[in-house]
Amino acid sequence: MLQHSKEPSFRESVDLMFNRAVALMKLPAGLEEKIRVCNATYTVRFGVRLRGQIHTFTGYRSVHSEHMEPVKGGIRYSLGVNQDEVEALAALMTYKCALVDAPFGGSKGGLCIDPREYEEHELELITRRFAYELAKRDLIHPSQNVPAPDMGTGEREMAWIADQYARMNTTDINARACVTGKPINAGGIQGRVEATGRGVQYALQEFFRHPEDVAKTGLSGGLRGKRIIVQGLGNVGYHAAKFLSEEDGALITGIIERDGALVDEKGLNVEAVRSWIATHGGVKGYGDGTYVEQGNKVLESACDILIPAALEGVINMGNADRIKAPLIIEAANGPVTAGGDDILRDKGVVIIPDMYANAGGVTVSYFEWVKNLSHIRFGRMGRRQEEARHQLIVEELERLSKDKELGWTLSPDFKTKYLRGADELELVRSGLDDTMRVAYQAMREVWHARDDVQDLRTAAYLVSIGKVAASYRAKGL
Ligand code: NAD
Repeated sequence: MLQHSKEPSFRESVDLMFNRAVALMKLPAGLEEKIRVCNATYTVRFGVRLRGQIHTFTGYRSVHSEHMEPVKGGIRYSLGVNQDEVEALAALMTYKCALVDAPFGGSKGGLCIDPREYEEHELELITRRFAYELAKRDLIHPSQNVPAPDMGTGEREMAWIADQYARMNTTDINARACVTGKPINAGGIQGRVEATGRGVQYALQEFFRHPEDVAKTGLSGGLRGKRIIVQGLGNVGYHAAKFLSEEDGALITGIIERDGALVDEKGLNVEAVRSWIATHGGVKGYGDGTYVEQGNKVLESACDILIPAALEGVINMGNADRIKAPLIIEAANGPVTAGGDDILRDKGVVIIPDMYANAGGVTVSYFEWVKNLSHIRFGRMGRRQEEARHQLIVEELERLSKDKELGWTLSPDFKTKYLRGADELELVRSGLDDTMRVAYQAMREVWHARDDVQDLRTAAYLVSIGKVAASYRAKGL
């Protein structure tokens, strides 16, 4: 049933979805409001001298909930950044961290800037100054507030932020834990760059392990051969599309970017499209498939799975009734508005919600933060010992086979795989896969167990609000 006469803002959308879920819960009086509201938003305006004049920039860091500290959430560089947006994103971080058991409160930051308009050294000056403004108020701090990459930022910006914090806190032995998503040589962790896209892949793999859930979409079978349309071939969209096509046999039949879309029912080569965008700045002119100038119309094309992985609000009251995909996985934050969500739910479209679908990033950020605080890479102590023990078993099996003339031989492929101890990347993937599976199972349990829960998003909110409420109660609130 349509509940909205006009399109709500991003923050209103998040609150409406929260309210929908919380109405199904019995929380102590007033706790619902305490959880919902954003604790604080800091706005900063600062000047940087560039190209012979002072330029003033506006940035935000919003702290939604401090029921666990540090609080965690990315920093976004985009001209669209505003207070409503960072507060919505900070709230989503609270629910996301609770859902995947990452021990953080929710935060988010943003800088109103189009990073493509600046040279690298200019971006460094701007980023360092922004980091300085936030760090001096403990809005960047290993135990208080730990940013990460988001739209328009990546490893490079995180390395500048980490260095800026270290320069301001020269005796802090945990300085590297002040931000995640850093390059390996600056204290990062293997597998962080692709973590969010990898998480989207693991989320879909887990969804397709449950035929009962798949049946709700009218689809059947596994990911192989499924036609996928992805919007945004940035960090998240690129990695998700790459892994799903290269490893799971799905077909990327549409790629929507800023300047239009590419469609090809035979499947597009994600790697080739990505390098085309890198050299030409957009998808236009790419050799294979058909170019569609009005990219957003491709959101409405027939496919099996739609992956909005660019920005918020792209599926809304204006186009939701024309969406043909039976399954949407929200790789971006807030790609479906509350109004759009109502329409899609009425149509029976299954939505794997953002707070779960893109939680791979914060999950691996959590691993990176733990690595920084423990000052040792995962796997360094145990890897060779694990290999030695496996070697013992292999030698014993081979000895038995020889002594008893059993004629057993272990295949070389098995031996290579079995004898290799897990390195950091394998451990990160294992931790991420486990996190995505466990969180999905918690959501689906609620989805199937309760008649008043019609969708995975409400189920996700119920699970995460329950955890946030429990931690407030434990604090005596
Ligand atoms: P990104 O900047 O790397 O990529 C965004 C991509 O979307 C770019 O390729 C850009 O050209 C494209 N794009 C921008 N506007 C578009 C439009 N109107 N139509 C089509 N394409 C458009 O950003 P990202 O880090 O991949 O983040 C994308 C989304 O995922 C955001 O909502 C972000 O909050 C969310 N997210 C990111 C992470 C992360 O680890 N980076 C983690 C969780 C959630």
